[in-house]
Amino acid sequence: MRSKCEFICKYCQRRFTKPYNLMIHERTHKSPELTFSCEVCGKSFKRQDNLKQHSVFKIVIGMAKFNALAFKT
Ligand SMILES: [Zn+2]
Ligand SMILES: [Zn+2]
Repeated sequence: MRSKCEFICKYCQRRFTKPYNLMIHERTHKSPELTFSCEVCGKSFKRQDNLKQHSVFKIVIGMAKFNALAFKT
């Protein structure tokens, strides 16, 4: 079966379905000084907003896990 993901980043081999997305993504490799990386998992973001969103998402996941544990006991 052939994959729809035809556009592959030459820096990290991440796949994209649209050339536009690849172009935006590759930009993050070219200007590392403009990226913000997560201190927890090392994932990098183009914008500080995106990193903030990522961090908030982690907190939500963490809380969900905490709630699941609380229900178990
Ligand atoms: Zn890449
Ligand atoms: Zn992270």
